[in-house]
Amino acid sequence: MRKKVYRYILAIVIIAISLAMVLSYVVFLRSMKLQAESDVKRTTSILRAGFEKDEDIEFLRESSSDDYRITLIKSTGEVVFESVPKGKSYNHLNRPEVKEAMKNGVGSELRVSQTLDTLTYYYAIELNNGEILRVALDMESVKNYSRETAIILLLIYTLVILLALAITRKLTDNVVQPIEEMGENLENIDAYVPYSELVPFAESVKRQQVARQEAEDFRRHFTANVSHELKTPLTSISGYAEMIENGMAKEVDIKKFANKIRLEATRLLSLIGDIIDLSKLDSMFNKDDFKTVDLYNLVLNTLDILDYSYKEKEISLKVEGENVLVKGSYDQLEEMCYNLIDNSIKYTEPKGEILVEIGGTDGVPFLKVSDTGIGISEKDQKRIFERFFRVDKSRSKKLGGTGLGLAIVKHIVLHHEGEIDVKSTLGTGTEMTVRFPKYEN
Ligand code: ADP
Repeated sequence: MRKKVYRYILAIVIIAISLAMVLSYVVFLRSMKLQAESDVKRTTSILRAGFEKDEDIEFLRESSSDDYRITLIKSTGEVVFESVPKGKSYNHLNRPEVKEAMKNGVGSELRVSQTLDTLTYYYAIELNNGEILRVALDMESVKNYSRETAIILLLIYTLVILLALAITRKLTDNVVQPIEEMGENLENIDAYVPYSELVPFAESVKRQQVARQEAEDFRRHFTANVSHELKTPLTSISGYAEMIENGMAKEVDIKKFANKIRLEATRLLSLIGDIIDLSKLDSMFNKDDFKTVDLYNLVLNTLDILDYSYKEKEISLKVEGENVLVKGSYDQLEEMCYNLIDNSIKYTEPKGEILVEIGGTDGVPFLKVSDTGIGISEKDQKRIFERFFRVDKSRSKKLGGTGLGLAIVKHIVLHHEGEIDVKSTLGTGTEMTVRFPKYEN
């Protein structure tokens, strides 16, 4: 990042300085040229005024200087006067500035002089008598001056670039260092946010850290719970088996112990089954396998599996409602339905009542399971969806509960983007309602 920022800033600085230099040099050259041209034009006008008074060549001779070369040319092109004579003088009729002056009254050109071999600016004007007065300015000095200026500009350019290199490095450090510092102190990022623009980033990092910490705590807590839950039945299985092995169990106890071992093993199996279900739900967020499910038929199928347990307790179980469609995973919805009704059966005294209602209020499909069971206190209602939470641990264990049933239900409901609502009064009964998103084909 440091290199990238450095390169970007440097590239911008170099481009800006180079452009400024080239531009100022071009402007300088142009103003030099314009200045020279206007000088020549002014000199020519003064000479013309002086000469046209009495057409005295002497006046021209006296007015000539090292800077300006004055030439008087007849309309035939023949040179009448030359302030700096150089050997043979040629006919000047074909010189562009002369031609132009003859045609338009004035003419000018910048070219390398044939006579002196130097860059020269020519300015010619037609006099009243038809002759052409031409003044030439040697631009070599301008050229030399420009060259000197270019060298000075180049030197300044190099110096400025070197300075820019140093400043850019410092600037980059100033910008990047606090960000690097922040990166090194992610655990305490709040204290290291260098710019207000980075506050949202820091907040998001903080949120992720909190979420990661929560997930980590949750995982640790869950692992400890699982270990504990697995250990208890295994300890009693091992205890009973040891007593049988050592011959400590009497003949009459062996059958009793074997039954206890089987019960504990069954408990272990259902615990492991629930843990597997939960871990599957934790990792499963693929909705591709969602199908259309009829809630009413699903309830009837689930009751077939639960048939024995509620009949055994002589519980009256009624199903009311209509065929309602939802989008979801059949297996998950069946497990949800099973857990809810199974809880009602478990926590309702014999001869109690359970009502399962299926409907679609305003197109919102719902499934409601109400019982006349023991009920759940307001305080515990907040916790029943936690993993391994049981209001009465020994009662739940006796009934074959694992404390994971409602955690699984909650997961399945969330997976289907639904919501679950609990209404319960201790000693009166419980009502659990699951609502699903509107069905869309
Ligand atoms: P468990 O395997 O113990 O039934 P759940 O997660 O299914 O575990 O339920 C958590 C706890 O919520 C239960 O132990 C029980 O105390 C309470 N509970 C759940 N459903 C009912 C209900 N219908 N009536 C009374 N208590 C209930």
